[in-house]
Amino acid sequence: MQKPAKKWLMASIHLVGKNDPDLISHACFEAGAAGCEEREALVIAWFPEQNAAALQQHLNEYLQRLYSAALIDAVPHISLTVVEEQDWHSGWRRFFKPILVSDVFCVRPPWEKSPKQVAHEIVIEPKQAFGTGNHATTWLLLSRIAELGDDLPLRALDVGTGSGILAIAHALRRPESRITACDIDPVAIENARENLEINRVEKQVSLFVGSLQACGESPFPLIYANLQSHIILPDLEKFMQLASNGGLILFSGILAEEEDKMRRALGDFPCELCEIIRRDEWIAMTVRKNA
Ligand code: SAH
Repeated sequence: MQKPAKKWLMASIHLVGKNDPDLISHACFEAGAAGCEEREALVIAWFPEQNAAALQQHLNEYLQRLYSAALIDAVPHISLTVVEEQDWHSGWRRFFKPILVSDVFCVRPPWEKSPKQVAHEIVIEPKQAFGTGNHATTWLLLSRIAELGDDLPLRALDVGTGSGILAIAHALRRPESRITACDIDPVAIENARENLEINRVEKQVSLFVGSLQACGESPFPLIYANLQSHIILPDLEKFMQLASNGGLILFSGILAEEEDKMRRALGDFPCELCEIIRRDEWIAMTVRKNA
């Protein structure tokens, strides 16, 4: 056991496919975790406070190696949260506080109230799926949805919907819209379905288990992709095919130091990088496919 630190980094590792939780816990201990908990479809690992971006990268590289060695069949998604030491045994609920996105959205668990009046409250039941709003990568795209407002198109695609949060935000902000949302993780789709119902947007969003490859041929004027760069890059061509001419792709889940790599890869396609927004060590890119 390491010397107690004042703060901890809590890594939530969302298992996908047939990931063996023991193997993932082992990877966390190798990376310096002081403790691990296995839950259904989730491994939670506690690390002494350190540089979150470096830890994220280290864990990703380790998991990527397990994937290359065919020891896991998919690379799980990692989210990191800083936790005060005194809170860490007082229960899961303590980690979920309402998150505000200007005065447009408040993302909250069912047991919390919005601290101020906002245009739309998004209620997310925290379960295994990624997307409770407290991660910078989700927040960045929520802020774009808030900003786009009435300019949001009537059709959109949410690739890697997790808890369904972005699809819900789009549906609430543009009530007549229809969104297609997919995730390769069936547990995420189950959680998303529950959240759609809580937020009463189930008629606007169609969910399916699958990846970009299963999204058909008919192009979308807006695509959300809060995925990591190692998932986005090999599929860039498919993203471009699925965007309508002049349509937007909002990429998130990209580390600031990956900006150049993303820019270079985008350079191979007929598109324009319109905007980059930043929060913590993360960036989100708004890309417009040429008309
Ligand atoms: N959209 C949510 C969740 C993002 S986490 C948010 O913004 O908070 C990324 C999600 O993508 C995870 O639920 C993961 O299971 C899923 N995922 C990973 N690779 C994928 C792929 N190739 N196709 C579709 N979903 C994928």
